[in-house]
Amino acid sequence: MSNQTSGKQRHRVVVIGSGFGGLFACKHLRHAEVDIVLISKTSTHLFQPLLYQVATGILSTGEIAPATRIVLRKQENVQVIMGDVHDIDLTNRTITSELLNRDTVTPFDSLIVATGAQQSYFGNDHFATYAPGMKTIDDALELRARILGSFEEAELAPTQELRDRFMTFVVVGAGPTGVELAGQIAELADRTLVGTFRNIDPRDARVILVEGADAVLKPMGPKLGGKAQQRLEKMGVEIQLNAMVTDVDARGVTIKDQDGERRIEAACKVWSAGVQASELGPMLAERSEGTEVDRAGRVIVEKDLTIKGHPNVFVVGDLMSVPGVPGQAQGAIQGATYAAKQIKAELAGKQQPAQRAPFKYFDKGSMATISRFDAVCQIGKLEFSGFFAWLMWLGLHLYYLVGFRSRFMTVVQWFVAFLGRHRGQMAATEQWVFARLALEALAGNDEDASEVRAEADLGAGNGAANKPAPKAG
Ligand SMILES: Cc1cc2nc3c(=O)[nH]c(=O)nc-3n(C[C@H](O)[C@H](O)[C@H](O)COP(=O)(O)OP(=O)(O)OC[C@H]3O[C@@H](n4cnc5c(N)ncnc54)[C@H](O)[C@@H]3O)c2cc1C
Repeated sequence: MSNQTSGKQRHRVVVIGSGFGGLFACKHLRHAEVDIVLISKTSTHLFQPLLYQVATGILSTGEIAPATRIVLRKQENVQVIMGDVHDIDLTNRTITSELLNRDTVTPFDSLIVATGAQQSYFGNDHFATYAPGMKTIDDALELRARILGSFEEAELAPTQELRDRFMTFVVVGAGPTGVELAGQIAELADRTLVGTFRNIDPRDARVILVEGADAVLKPMGPKLGGKAQQRLEKMGVEIQLNAMVTDVDARGVTIKDQDGERRIEAACKVWSAGVQASELGPMLAERSEGTEVDRAGRVIVEKDLTIKGHPNVFVVGDLMSVPGVPGQAQGAIQGATYAAKQIKAELAGKQQPAQRAPFKYFDKGSMATISRFDAVCQIGKLEFSGFFAWLMWLGLHLYYLVGFRSRFMTVVQWFVAFLGRHRGQMAATEQWVFARLALEALAGNDEDASEVRAEADLGAGNGAANKPAPKAG
């Protein structure tokens, strides 16, 4: 089935993706004489930097993922449509997106592609069955159910060996996401869950952060990386550097380091080790002669963030590959702003595409929280850590959260979680753990279907119940 969105009126800009790149592109075209169609496969604008707080019970999904159409309600020149873009026709200037087996074809004059990146398992996609990543709301909810489910299973485990496995949490990758997640799992165990079980003491949980490189937060340099490592270790997080994960299964991970291969038995694993650009990157490269992608599938764009031979097609955010621009929110926001400015200037007759000044990235710094009241922060040559850095982290995240309601509710939830020991979002269901695998099985992948059964068998096999409790893989 196929339908066509309403006919052409003014200059039509199609924006693909409702993340930082897509949303900021639309906002910067607010007063332009254009009709915008924003197409995204998700209905929300997701604030990814706080996903780990959804996974660890501090925030709800509503706080970090407002509905895009509500965010843009007052911007009358935007139509938001939901759909998974699977075709970009650069010759006929159309986009084809799919929503529940129905194709929609949308024509464009200018195109801004901001479809971001997803988790990369470096060719070992089967690891995802047991170690979900942290890229989507589904990932965060699945992870919350796996973390809390692990404690539930530990409480009922008939042997110490099983109990230890359920009380061991492995986070793969010591970048900002891995560091933040490891810190929050440790705080969850040490503060929120204390006194809530009768057979186990949640403080006995082992949180292990595994990193293939020789440092925590390596891009932030040895000083801040060292501070983060010290602080995590003080909280009881075990850090294993120069350790490559070579296999992941239901019962744990296999690690290779200088001493050879070894196992860590752990029911709950999280993958935050790498990213792979959206599939639209390679598609664009294939369809525009001379355009290439880098190793992560990001489009190597021209100096004006367009692809070769198509000055009306911009690629921004995590999908673009520009030397010196990190895969961070600032890169996406600045790229989207730049693209919108070029479109506006050319529609106003102020410049031709050939006269565009190259995109320039302004590095506003980077930061990561380690625990409540503690963060590391780098702005230019300035490096600082501790409470002041945490306050800056707090302010900046509130600033970029979209909408007054989200900001207000986030402050309330942080107040509850950081000053007290409670967390407001501790719900978790069995469905959250199994839904991803069940959907893959529904899509007809027999291998995945058997993985679902294997997961369920493992849950029943711990003697807790015939029906598996919410559990970690
Ligand atoms: C866990 C985590 C923590 C992070 N922490 C920080 C941080 O502290 N500071 C920082 O600066 N950055 C952080 N980042 C990085 C930052 O979130 C990204 O750089 C930023 O979101 C990139 O924006 P984007 O618009 O390019 O892509 P995204 O925000 O990923 O948005 C991509 C959009 O495209 C849509 N989409 C994808 N494929 C299709 C398709 N085929 N059809 C239609 N729509 C599609 C998606 O649904 C989504 O709406 C973090 C990222 C993660 C995952």
